[in-house]
Amino acid sequence: MTSAAPSTRPARFSFLSGPVDVCVAVPRLALDRPFTYLLGDDSAAGVGSLVSVPFHGRSVRGWVLGPAASVPEGRVLPVRKVLSPVRFFHAPLLDLFRWMSLRYLAPLATVIERSHPPRVAGEEPRSPWPPAPPDVAPLGHPPVWAPGVLADYGGADSLLAPETTTWLRPLPSQEVDVCVAAVEACLSAGKRAIVVVPEAQAAPATAAAVLEAFVTRAAAFIGGDPRERYRTWLDIAGGAFDVVVATRPGVFAPLPSLGLVWVSREVHPGHREDRSPYYHTREVATARAKLEGASCVVAALSPSVETATLVGNGQVRTWRAPRHRERAEAPLVETVAPEAEDRSVRLTTLLRRARSAALIVSRRGYGVARVCRVCSAPAACAECSGPIVVRGGAPVCRVCGLPGRCRNCGGGAFGVERGGSERIAEWAKRTGSVPVVLHQDGEAAPPGRDRIVVGTAAAVNDVGPRHLDLVAILDPDRALLRAGLHSGEQSVATWMEAAAWAGPRSEGGRVLVHTRRPGHPAIQALVRWEPLPFLQAEAARRTEAGFPPGHATFRITGNRDVEDALGRTSASVVVSAAAEGRTICLVTVAPADLPGFRRDVLGLAATGVVSRVEAEPQL
Ligand SMILES: [Zn+2]
Ligand SMILES: [Zn+2]
Repeated sequence: MTSAAPSTRPARFSFLSGPVDVCVAVPRLALDRPFTYLLGDDSAAGVGSLVSVPFHGRSVRGWVLGPAASVPEGRVLPVRKVLSPVRFFHAPLLDLFRWMSLRYLAPLATVIERSHPPRVAGEEPRSPWPPAPPDVAPLGHPPVWAPGVLADYGGADSLLAPETTTWLRPLPSQEVDVCVAAVEACLSAGKRAIVVVPEAQAAPATAAAVLEAFVTRAAAFIGGDPRERYRTWLDIAGGAFDVVVATRPGVFAPLPSLGLVWVSREVHPGHREDRSPYYHTREVATARAKLEGASCVVAALSPSVETATLVGNGQVRTWRAPRHRERAEAPLVETVAPEAEDRSVRLTTLLRRARSAALIVSRRGYGVARVCRVCSAPAACAECSGPIVVRGGAPVCRVCGLPGRCRNCGGGAFGVERGGSERIAEWAKRTGSVPVVLHQDGEAAPPGRDRIVVGTAAAVNDVGPRHLDLVAILDPDRALLRAGLHSGEQSVATWMEAAAWAGPRSEGGRVLVHTRRPGHPAIQALVRWEPLPFLQAEAARRTEAGFPPGHATFRITGNRDVEDALGRTSASVVVSAAAEGRTICLVTVAPADLPGFRRDVLGLAATGVVSRVEAEPQL
């Protein structure tokens, strides 16, 4: 059934000679344009080749982009050397990199550099690219993981329609199966698939299931040492695999005949790259699907505000199970007002009889230092004036991480307002009837039989269906007060994923939510098991704050002229602040205005008015 998928030598690497355009590896916006060089007849190089070229009197690395679009007057310098037989991208990926360079206002060189793991030259083949086709054992049997599961979501043909993006809301019991079935359908159609998961630690159940189902034809491009990682990437580029299961950088996996890019749990912070080019997996996957005629599926119980907005205006399709089945699989959500330290009588009652539970709280640690025991001054870090918290039994600054010392007298003893995952775990040990596991930094056992797991959002991983006796969200009101454009959507997605561990209400699945605001749209999203009204309210809130969903946001640093200069572009300057001779502006740009805005900023970078651009800053 899956034997139609290609495992042959890719025929997409032709040789070039004569004048070619090269992207030099000098990541500066002011130099972000192709330079033309002469490539020799016998170079065996072409699109994606890494070369050495003369540039302002020195040798720099660069990548061949293609035949020169126009040959400049005068002498064209020759390429000095072809540095590797590897082709680091093919033409459709170059189109994606150019799109990213536009969308995130990043030099093309930076985008290319980040699209593959750092080179380990010893791993590279000596022969011309591509290497001989790998000897991949065919699957002895079609996986047929969960026959018919796609029928609940509009069917395989619809889900795999080219150039589409779909928000798929899985039934919690089918989150893993529906992904495996979609990949299987993609392979059956003779195409290849990428599955992007948000984290490598606590290996997601979805990743494990896809790797298990497609055995030798699936590459795990997750973690690993640099040598192993580069080896895997070379094998993918050489055509050894039909399926790539990866974290964020896997969205660039150089697979030919791409049919499907699956983005698991799109709201997870792991999908955002926090260095240039500051991309988001969902956006890159959507663009790549459009450029390569593939389908992008964004799987989430509760999607992002951006996706909800695109669903609202018809640019993203929705596939979800019929409402009555969603309701039947949802847990029963009960709200009750919290008492001291995020506890309640109701929680105590439920926890006493639970054989399995997950308690989710927004704060780590044991509590917050309020006042110095020595001098009675309000507690603040001696080093940076940041707030002091108690973690692992000791006061520590939440900002700089140094041991907590009083800013006023240097003392290290504080009056502490207790609360946080460590404090909850201590209490649960006394209250519950099974052992307690405190989830810190992703090492702990997942929730399951005969244990109570206590943790923050970091503890809410893709571990597959659980059927816990109790899931409790202990301080959602506090979580909703957190600053940040994305904190609301992240809270609701996390709660919903944790709540799904309770299992269907028909089988006793129960979630306890502590809140004084049961009518808040975020809480109602959980109670009704329907996130869209909350996400629409969030979209309106962002628009009001000057950050309409779908518009690009940039933090631009420059000299004192930068605010006026940006004011003359198509951008809206939302905030600007001056400090130490520099001015920092926060701007938004409508998608249609990006090409013109990019040209303007490149001009401002060339004249020194703009010195730094950060796309989609964490606000
Ligand atoms: Zn500090
Ligand atoms: Zn003091």
